[in-house]
Amino acid sequence: MVVAAVAAGAFAAAGQSMAAGEGHAAPDHDDFNPSDASASFNGALADGPYTGMGGSAPAPAMLPVAKTSDASAELEKLTKSERISQQLDAARIAAEEAARAPKFVVPAAGAFTSGFGGRWGTTHYGIDIANAKGTPIYSVADGVVIEAGPASGFGLWVRVQHEDGTITVYGHVNTITVNEGEKVKAGDQIATMGNRGFSTGPHLHFEVWNVSGKKINPLPWMQARGISPV
Ligand SMILES: [Zn+2]
Repeated sequence: MVVAAVAAGAFAAAGQSMAAGEGHAAPDHDDFNPSDASASFNGALADGPYTGMGGSAPAPAMLPVAKTSDASAELEKLTKSERISQQLDAARIAAEEAARAPKFVVPAAGAFTSGFGGRWGTTHYGIDIANAKGTPIYSVADGVVIEAGPASGFGLWVRVQHEDGTITVYGHVNTITVNEGEKVKAGDQIATMGNRGFSTGPHLHFEVWNVSGKKINPLPWMQARGISPV
């Protein structure tokens, strides 16, 4: 770099000598003038790729360049810190929203009309919540819709599998508002209440299948999670 700079200086000096040789008759141009050469040298530095070179006597032209690069570095730092700050804000807001979001919700509003267990000489494997046809039915927890369609006795059902493997079942629904494979959050509507299948009036038949696939009493399961239809 030093060699190149010196070469550039020499070239500038040579250029001046050549210019002087091209018909400039004024005598003072015939003499080599060190201050003129220095000016040309500094000019070459300012225009060329050697602006970073520190000299014992830096040319004034280099100062604005250095200042500009400091300023843009500062600006870049500022924008970077603003960007990080915005990212942190977004992460904090997302975390707050996640913390506020319910983990479990009651699957439907309505009257608790039937519990889990023996009924009419058979076993009722869920609970019933009765309300008007079309009442929204919600996924009780985050999960994935593993089945949404016709099912014997249930008319139409939706089954949602949750993170721990538990499956919740929503039967006799009138309409299904999700697709199989869809991810849902607690409280997302998945269906509307209906009277399809083996049903004596519009209601939701809700079941909980534990990780072993056993149909368990939904009531204590719900109460342990802070929700209850009764
Ligand atoms: Zn039922």
